[in-house]
Amino acid sequence: MISFRDVTVTYPTGTVGLDSVTLDIEPGEFVVVVGLSGAGKSTLVRSINGLVPVTSGELLVDDVHVDGAKPAQLRRLRSRIGMIFQSFNLVGRISVLQNVLVGRLHATPLLLSLFGFFRPADKEKAFEALERVGIVEKAYVRASQLSGGQQQRVAIARVLAQDPTVILADEPVASLDPPTAHMVMRDLERINDELGITTIVNLHFLDLARRYADRIIGMREGTVVFDGPPAEADDAV
Ligand code: ADP
Ligand code: ADP
Repeated sequence: MISFRDVTVTYPTGTVGLDSVTLDIEPGEFVVVVGLSGAGKSTLVRSINGLVPVTSGELLVDDVHVDGAKPAQLRRLRSRIGMIFQSFNLVGRISVLQNVLVGRLHATPLLLSLFGFFRPADKEKAFEALERVGIVEKAYVRASQLSGGQQQRVAIARVLAQDPTVILADEPVASLDPPTAHMVMRDLERINDELGITTIVNLHFLDLARRYADRIIGMREGTVVFDGPPAEADDAV
């Protein structure tokens, strides 16, 4: 359960990213956040894992107060919140498998991970995640050799290897062509269906949102201007 109560985010520059937002996201929901550039989508999503600090109000994620969380609490919370970015953020010169194993780092003893050693159970997890996004045959290929769509699926696998309770995806398909964008959205949809992981995705395009979301949150100037089922979201969002 993610709960925003009157959450305002003001950046050090004085710009208001979120303006008194109140909303709840239930476990297992597939929420798509839409809005023009600068509407506050990214701020909303990034506040959930504490990447952007809350200025005022209350933000609860699984009973943890993200606002004012101690570093150890925040680390624990982040270990269960997977984040996907527009730019994939893979390490290009290492293999796909190694990239996915990064998702297991929170569960790996530090000394072992320093020497690049992962336990068989971690590798099992990584292969399982790669299978789930249909890219296991690329396990030993360097990440930089993959297409954009393949890289984004590896990023999804890396998140899955974390055993997340929440997936946050900030414009995950913005740099992909339309067919590839649909493929990635279908992967996210299927993972949400099969594993029940709460999923929050920022998108630029309402048509994609309508097709995949259970619920659409429309934002404008840091406020929520629509919150409801896709069928009710009109072009004004
Ligand atoms: P969106 O994701 O919908 O494009 P953002 O959440 O990125 O919107 O931005 C909301 C507002 O906050 C915009 O006015 C943007 O310029 C501003 N903003 C975002 N990040 C920062 C930052 N790090 N410092 C200052 N202002 C920011
Ligand atoms: P290493 O890199 O140490 O040689 P491997 O990558 O070959 O190890 O395999 C390590 C673990 O991953 C083993 O437990 C193996 O069962 C599992 N594994 C290897 N390939 C696959 C696969 N295609 N699907 C699922 N699990 C796999």
